[in-house]
Amino acid sequence: AAPGEGTPAVTPTHCPYCALQCGMGLRARGAGSVEVVERPEFPVNRGALCGKGRTAPELLSPGRRLTGPLVRDAASGALVPASWEQALDRIAEGLRRTRREHGADAVGVFGGGGLTNEKAYALGKFARVVLGTSQIDYNGRFCMSSAAAAHQRAFGLDRGLPFPLADVSRTGCLILVGSNLAETMPPALRYLTELRENGGKLIVVDPRRTRTAQAADLHLAPRPGTDLALALGLLHLVVAEGRTDEEFIRARTRGWAEARAGAMAHWPEYVERITGVPLPRLREAAELFCEAESAMVLTARGPEQQAKGTDTVGAWINLCLATGRAGRPLSGYGCLTGQGNGQGGREHGQKADQLPGYRKLTDPAAREHVARVWGVAPESLPGPGRSAYELLEALGGDIRSLLLMGSNPVVSAPRAGHIEERLRALDFLAVADVVLSETAALADVVLPVTQWAEETGTVTNLEGRVLLRRRALDPPEGVRSDLYVLSALAERLGVEKGFPTDPEEVFGELRRASAGGPADYSGISYRRLIEEQGVHWPCPEGEDTGDGEGGADRGDAGVGSDGTGSEGRPGRPSGRDARPHPGTPRLFLDRFATEDGRARFVPVSHRPSAEEPDEEYPVFLTTGRVLAQYQSGAQTRRVDELNAAAPGSFVQLHPRLAARLGIAEGEEVAVVSRRGRAVAPARVSADIRQDTVFMPFHWPGAGRANSVTNPALDPTSRMPEFKVCAVRVERATG
Ligand code: SF4
Repeated sequence: AAPGEGTPAVTPTHCPYCALQCGMGLRARGAGSVEVVERPEFPVNRGALCGKGRTAPELLSPGRRLTGPLVRDAASGALVPASWEQALDRIAEGLRRTRREHGADAVGVFGGGGLTNEKAYALGKFARVVLGTSQIDYNGRFCMSSAAAAHQRAFGLDRGLPFPLADVSRTGCLILVGSNLAETMPPALRYLTELRENGGKLIVVDPRRTRTAQAADLHLAPRPGTDLALALGLLHLVVAEGRTDEEFIRARTRGWAEARAGAMAHWPEYVERITGVPLPRLREAAELFCEAESAMVLTARGPEQQAKGTDTVGAWINLCLATGRAGRPLSGYGCLTGQGNGQGGREHGQKADQLPGYRKLTDPAAREHVARVWGVAPESLPGPGRSAYELLEALGGDIRSLLLMGSNPVVSAPRAGHIEERLRALDFLAVADVVLSETAALADVVLPVTQWAEETGTVTNLEGRVLLRRRALDPPEGVRSDLYVLSALAERLGVEKGFPTDPEEVFGELRRASAGGPADYSGISYRRLIEEQGVHWPCPEGEDTGDGEGGADRGDAGVGSDGTGSEGRPGRPSGRDARPHPGTPRLFLDRFATEDGRARFVPVSHRPSAEEPDEEYPVFLTTGRVLAQYQSGAQTRRVDELNAAAPGSFVQLHPRLAARLGIAEGEEVAVVSRRGRAVAPARVSADIRQDTVFMPFHWPGAGRANSVTNPALDPTSRMPEFKVCAVRVERATG
């Protein structure tokens, strides 16, 4: 058992859902049941929870989740109950047969951004050591990969927020691009309120007037897919007005001349035409951003889920760099990661091109280090595999069998109808999940696994703060952990050691594997996570330099009254003051993580979306989330209160567009693209552009928004273009 486990009256832990990872307490309420209590001492959400977190225990009850393995009966074709031994034997046999008949790369592995760090680590190791396949990726590719790629390119390191979320309250101006955090992570709205109470300005960029946009000083509503041009237009104005920070550019960056030339080619009038944002609004935004003493840009899926997502984020980073708003206190660029372990999920080796510690799979030194920890030869490790969508598209082709954990691509993948067909074309599909998701329902074997409140493990929130979720109750009899699944399968496939089932033991190995890498967890222990309310990586093992202020969870304490910080310095033991490394809440204050310590401007220019409206498909579709549902809805659709609040999909459209098409409020409408069709009731609202319709993506069946979306991929991040495609909207009844 982890330290601190046992039977405290209230077990401190974290929400199972989004990347905010709100702190909460779980109090036993009799046998096999817990209730959520507030935990105001946890600094990120300070006790506040949204309805999803508050109702999360409902999914623990046996009636709403899987409680025993299921295998597909050859005669009836139905999923029927089986023992764990039968189910695991069948998976081992399925994977073994594929490997024997088609080779190791014919077995695919698909993970999830909700898996704990320990599970993500064990899954990556399982794929490469036990299966010997290069074909592993995860659904986080659909979440933050463009921001991660842009981060790496500009700063040499990707951590969603390079500063604590609390800094947002005290910055002078925030541009929030494509995030509706009032609905996706409501407790974070408090930071925006505090920002404005402190005199700061909030600019929201979104084609819809969302609840978040309603809280802004200035709302810019660009045409979908033109965020890149918008950022370039702002940079053009900044340069033209002489508002760049030449000293910062000279001392801390490279590549300005090319980036500047790119921006100057985007005249504001041209940008106005492309984006549809009136020039005076553009000027106002540039003025607010430059006037403030400190300023930030935060992006989310809006600009990132585009076939030019990496360059789009790059354009916003260029704006920050040109104005000296990066690597300085209360300033910088950050990404609001979506999934619960969206940050940690990409650091420990379930991504197609990465090894634990956020190391590159193609780096010989990284391969050697990780292979040593794993006790295998470096040359035995496969190379990089396909990205998530490409992997899913290869199912039933090159890839004949798939092991899937914690993901529901039947609902969440772009062009979902096609992906559903690919899943059906597999020789063998095994799914480990908490519920019988739409994807699990297609499997040959389904394994029921433990949930957040029934297991201990770490996650890393959107600030790079590593947190410990703790077990508060026993799982139902027939349910086992993902770590058990991987250990039992490894054994059946001939690898008897190296897959412990104790999460703390796995974390110990993860620490060693990450040591010296960009995401260094080696100085973090379960005990520290309990005592310090989390620790921000990098946190190398060893001693602090002695010039930090100590303590990993000081919120804003690392920024002094003069606004100067002493953080951002991954530890180099000096012996001056023997303390464990405090972790790194703020990155880049002294230097960026590139070889020469300077950030890189990347020249970018506007280009159209992969699919623009035309005569046949004249309207943009954009997709997103609603307050009461989470991701593919596999969990939240099973919670009564959430389901009552948001029972099904809808199509939001402007009154003028509705009138032109003869569509009335509540009427069933079809949204049709070149890939498919989704049908849902109309929600007529002036809070959206006239050329755009919006659908949430939480539901399967006729209302599945992803039946319509475009899988065109970003050339760098391989992110699909979820946020922009061309559709026709018509009355479903004809
Ligand atoms: Fe959970 Fe996110 Fe809601 Fe917090 S905001 S309670 S982490 S779903």
